[in-house]
Amino acid sequence: NMASETLGFQTEVKQLLHLMIHSLYSNKEIFLRELVSNASDACDKLRFEAIDNPDLFQGDTDLRIRVEYDKNARSITISDNGIGMSRDEAVANLGTIARSGTKEFFSQLTGDKQKDAQLIGQFGVGFYSSFIVASKVSVLSRRAGADETDAILWESEGQGEFTIAPVEKADRGTSVTLYLREEEDEFVNGWKLREVLRRYSDHISLPIQMQKEEWDAEKSEQVKKNEWETVNQASALWTRPKSEITDEQYQEFYKHIGHDYDDPLAWTHNRVEGRSEYTQLLFVPKHAPMDLWDREGRRGVKLYVKRVFIMDDAEQLLPSYLRFVRGVIDSADLPLNVSREILQESRDVRVIREGSAKRVLSLLEDLAENKPEQYAEFWEQFGQVLKEGTGEDQGNQERIAKLLRFASTHDDSAAQTVSLADYVSRMKEGQDKIYYVSADSYAAASNSPHLEIFRKKGLEVLLLSDRVDEWMLSYLREFDGKSLVSIAKGGLNLDQMADEEEKKHQAEVAETFKPLVERLGKALDGKVKEVRVTGRLVDSPACVVVDENELSPHLLRMLQAAGQ
Ligand code: ADP
Ligand code: MG
Repeated sequence: NMASETLGFQTEVKQLLHLMIHSLYSNKEIFLRELVSNASDACDKLRFEAIDNPDLFQGDTDLRIRVEYDKNARSITISDNGIGMSRDEAVANLGTIARSGTKEFFSQLTGDKQKDAQLIGQFGVGFYSSFIVASKVSVLSRRAGADETDAILWESEGQGEFTIAPVEKADRGTSVTLYLREEEDEFVNGWKLREVLRRYSDHISLPIQMQKEEWDAEKSEQVKKNEWETVNQASALWTRPKSEITDEQYQEFYKHIGHDYDDPLAWTHNRVEGRSEYTQLLFVPKHAPMDLWDREGRRGVKLYVKRVFIMDDAEQLLPSYLRFVRGVIDSADLPLNVSREILQESRDVRVIREGSAKRVLSLLEDLAENKPEQYAEFWEQFGQVLKEGTGEDQGNQERIAKLLRFASTHDDSAAQTVSLADYVSRMKEGQDKIYYVSADSYAAASNSPHLEIFRKKGLEVLLLSDRVDEWMLSYLREFDGKSLVSIAKGGLNLDQMADEEEKKHQAEVAETFKPLVERLGKALDGKVKEVRVTGRLVDSPACVVVDENELSPHLLRMLQAAGQ
């Protein structure tokens, strides 16, 4: 296969390219961050593969990223000596979008520049952002372990197709060259590039090098010297003392590892010593990723062992109900050749998982208490996932229960803002239970006939309509010593809250309607267990309830729908 080939981009790539150029232009310098981020990932991957196969280094273990520019050619080149790409890898990685959720993503686009820019950000911009500033991009790459004669040249003008040709390359790794559009001259400038690199890529743990420059008075311009200098701090961000890291640096680091375009909502950074030694830097994103509900989706955090990258998406390091958290955990105890299988059994990993879950819960508690608006944002995006924790992490159930938020009859709004503690603080004299009703939708819950008597008595009821709620309630039986009770179940026992007069009245009513109840009982024989007079309705003549110990109708429907 020695000839140059011309191939078409996947339809989604074409759409993305078009959108990106038009909607992200106001933030165009991000292309540099994306290309440096890829170069850094490529070096991480090489280091990881080399744990089992040290020959891949071929004597060159000083991993680094270089940024060069050429004023005359109006080009910028970002090169790395990382893992490189074979022909097939280049075709797949630079011609398609393999990410899950791609289809849904494109169906959400509106044509409104600002909204779409936001969406693209959530999707992750990546390599294709080069075309925001470049009219042509060339990628020269040689996979680690491949021969000098076995390299590839990928080229495209970002218009729908790319070419790929076999070429020679003296060293391993990838060089990406951008040929800038005429109006992008500002980037072929050493000062400008350094400024952008420091702003967006200072957290990169590898050295980013540029050629030294000197003022030449005769030519009256900067001239490049044949000597490299490192322009970033080049130490892993999470290993630096907190006091030396700015918010901007944390934010840029998050964008790199979270593949997100937006700032994170909050983060927590700690070094843990003792039985197990590790550093954690964990972020809560602002937006749920497209694949939050996708079993195959990205999840978990990156695992490093003594600063060596080991794997992405190490799902063992956090419980699944915290799968929206992004970040890095760097362990001092795990072996470098740790596999996913070993992770599953490791005691060290269990300690890390428990410690990390507690840190994230503390972070959320802090938000809930001190930044309620941000917590509301968090709840809207991730509340349903957090609810899974009530069953999954029973050791922390009480802490999780305090973080839950519900819609309620207190403010009659679909917004989930009421905590169980709020509810308890408003409980009526003599009330010893937390009441809820669950249904398929907020509207159905808030119109439930079961609510009548509660509204009349001024008793607050939580209005549940999320899919996980019934499941959650099968684990979360009580809060603060008060049991959670569905108002759709029998034996509510509101009597203890009724006054003497009311009780007398109810007894009379029961007596009066005894014959009717008997007739109804016969007519519905076999269809219902029992017919009885109730004090729970105000305006409706009758309602169906389930026995205290039976499944609620909503859960029953869900189980039937699931074929059980
Ligand atoms: P992401 O980094 O989120 O995976 P990108 O669009 O930035 O998405 O990159 C797409 C893919 O192209 C990467 O996942 C990687 O496989 C490949 N790639 C990009 N740049 C490089 C590089 N410098 N070296 C090796 N592979 C690269
Ligand atoms: Mg990338």
